Amino acid sequence: MSTQTTHTWRTATRLLHEARNRTPYSETSDSLFLTSGFVYDSAEQAAATFEGTIDHLQYSRYGNPTVDTLQERLALLEGAEACLATSTGMGAVSCALLSHLKAGDRIVASSALFGSTHWLLSTLLPSYGIETEMIDGRDDEAWDRALSRPTAAVLIETPSNPMLDVLDVQRIADRAHKAGAIFMVDNVFATPVGQRPLDFGADVVIYSCTKHLDGQGRVMGGAVLGSQKWVTEKLQPFARNTGNTLSPFNAWVLLKGLETLDLRARTMAHNAAVVADALATLPGIQRVIYPGRKDHPQAALVKKQMRDGGSMIAFDVVNGKKGAFACMNSFEIISISNNLGDARSLVTHPATTTHKKLTEEERAALRITDGSIRFSVGLEDPEDLISEVTRGAQAALAVGS
Ligand SMILES: *Cc1c(COP(=O)(O)O)cnc(C)c1O
Repeated sequence: MSTQTTHTWRTATRLLHEARNRTPYSETSDSLFLTSGFVYDSAEQAAATFEGTIDHLQYSRYGNPTVDTLQERLALLEGAEACLATSTGMGAVSCALLSHLKAGDRIVASSALFGSTHWLLSTLLPSYGIETEMIDGRDDEAWDRALSRPTAAVLIETPSNPMLDVLDVQRIADRAHKAGAIFMVDNVFATPVGQRPLDFGADVVIYSCTKHLDGQGRVMGGAVLGSQKWVTEKLQPFARNTGNTLSPFNAWVLLKGLETLDLRARTMAHNAAVVADALATLPGIQRVIYPGRKDHPQAALVKKQMRDGGSMIAFDVVNGKKGAFACMNSFEIISISNNLGDARSLVTHPATTTHKKLTEEERAALRITDGSIRFSVGLEDPEDLISEVTRGAQAALAVGS
């Protein structure tokens, strides 16, 4: 669906008042069309619909009003011409890659990738005859080398999972375009209200809506945003014919989530900043990585391309895996879960869960240690979270004595 706005409203307002698509019943909330199909007034109307001479809904795998409203609102929020909603975040990543690439093509990506995305690049794409190269995304010379050959696509995540590297979207966009590549950014960690990759030259933005967009642990979903031409010609036929479709119910839940996205993202980023500063003062904590802190390796870049530091922290405790497990097991409020972006604070131990499949060398290259914990900061009172991590740090210290 194509979208345009002439409004000058700010983000929080737009999330509530753009792309309303009210039905004749004048409902306050967004309407939910929980239907798989649509009926025609006549055989002629059905024929004309399939002919493409009239605009009529056919089948929810092709289009549904609730899903369309979500797509429209996400496109307006992102500043993109078009959006396609998918069943999950991985549905979005796989659809973006597989609809664009063909055998003989080449893709270059930063190696700090979400686990399933890493599998797509390391295992699936090569089996389809697509050449993959993964490089350290922070290394300009590595980009120059990798993009000295014609390349069909470039993919990055920033901030990256789990160690929160921040990559320069503008610099990578310039290099990608010189190599003839479409440039895709997985913007899950930053959220659409925290970072706008299209403003810095990205062509495609990808989301797992499961994370902050729902943000309340309810539904899975994904979205891909880009130019109208690319979405219509590449993405849409692929998604429609392979069945990578978002349920209208999930779309409706996500629309409710979007109403509070800006509010939640701001509060979570505030809480994360307060908790990261507290963590950095605690005995038992060896390292704190938070994009909003002055000591983040790419602090200047964070200022340039992000609104705030986001809701994710990575920290290392003393005493390796034993210390990390003791710390996590001491938590009462913070739950152990590999999800993120939720209203409730969540922690995960990447070395034994999300990044277990990597070799020790690959983990070391990403700077994931046995003591590393990824912390998705939620909406609890930050003072309570500080009490939790203080107890966690003491627990990590205690296993060494
Ligand atoms: C969660 C996540 C995905 C995949 O999303 P799902 O909704 O779990 O399929 C992709 N990229 C990043 C960065 C993620 O955090």
